[in-house]
Amino acid sequence: MSEEIERIKCLIIGSGPAGYTAAIYAARANMSPVLYQGTQPGGQLTTTNEVENFPGYPEGVTGPEMMMELQKQAERFETDVRNGWVTKVDFSGDTHKVWVNETKEIHCDTVIISTGASAKYLGLDSEQKYLKLGGGVSACAVCDGFFYKNQEVVIVGAGDSACEEAHYLSKLCTKVTMLVRRDEFRASKIMAARVKNTENIEILYNTETDEVLGDGQVVTGVRVFNNKTNERHEIPATGFFVAIGHKPNTDIFKGFLDLDETGYIINVPGTSKTNIEGVFVSGDAADHVYRQAVTAAGTGCMAALDAERYLAAKDATFDVSTSTYN
Ligand SMILES: Cc1cc2nc3c(=O)[nH]c(=O)nc-3n(C[C@H](O)[C@H](O)[C@H](O)COP(=O)(O)OP(=O)(O)OC[C@H]3O[C@@H](n4cnc5c(N)ncnc54)[C@H](O)[C@@H]3O)c2cc1C
Repeated sequence: MSEEIERIKCLIIGSGPAGYTAAIYAARANMSPVLYQGTQPGGQLTTTNEVENFPGYPEGVTGPEMMMELQKQAERFETDVRNGWVTKVDFSGDTHKVWVNETKEIHCDTVIISTGASAKYLGLDSEQKYLKLGGGVSACAVCDGFFYKNQEVVIVGAGDSACEEAHYLSKLCTKVTMLVRRDEFRASKIMAARVKNTENIEILYNTETDEVLGDGQVVTGVRVFNNKTNERHEIPATGFFVAIGHKPNTDIFKGFLDLDETGYIINVPGTSKTNIEGVFVSGDAADHVYRQAVTAAGTGCMAALDAERYLAAKDATFDVSTSTYN
């Protein structure tokens, strides 16, 4: 049986840098935010040991530590942080309806979506092993490239993002080997040309990953195979970068919000507004370009401010005599 319907002013879905920053701003604006953490409390950064590019941490910080601090800061201003997974929404009427864990129904004046986007991996056991160990597998060149300065790395992928990441790595690493599954890039001609014209990037076409090699702690190389000839060989490398795309966690919003072809929520440019009034988006769920903690936090701030202004404008048009909004 479903519980009693709860009514709240500001619901935040997600507990990454975007969600907690939105919570800090919303709480300090007296919006009494309720934040649902989802199955990954703290978001993606909890899977990394070293964050060196978030401002305010001159010595760097571990991802889990940083996210605990963000949570504490949100709770200091009385954000109601809850465990729970949003399983369904209905944004078709004036009231925004949200269901948590399939049973609890909440009616919200404003909703801030901060559900992030998950990096795709190849799924090899050896890849997952060194990813979990923090031993040399990464899905983010901008985040982790610096740790491989003057070293040799391998990157998998053939799209625009893969080309961009390979090019970024080429400025830090002595050699970048790029594995392309087909006999051509999926990327635009201009991006592919940039990679092809970079001296320290070697491109191996028709080549796939057989195994990520390591010493049990860190990556030492990659065994690859040519999918035409089935020949295998090993490439020495200390880093293995996977750049085969991201999946935005936005399936539950399909049919209500405008999404692009990959599933990123489309926001009104320069704002956090979506196509539904009172529903805002922040962080990686709408960002296929930057995908950084600091940009997620920045857009979390924008979403809370946009939500606060939306409520203030609504209050200004509220007609007390008829109890309706004009
Ligand atoms: C291994 C790794 C290392 C990284 N290193 C860095 C770095 O050094 N520096 C940097 O700036 N960036 C780094 N990034 C990128 C950074 O983590 C992301 O850009 C950032 O976390 C995005 O923040 P977000 O709040 O949008 O989403 P996320 O951090 O992805 O958080 C999404 C949240 O939404 C919740 N959620 C999803 N769906 C639901 C639902 N239906 N109901 C309730 N909750 C839901 C999840 O539980 C999670 O809490 C790294 C990423 C990875 C994967």
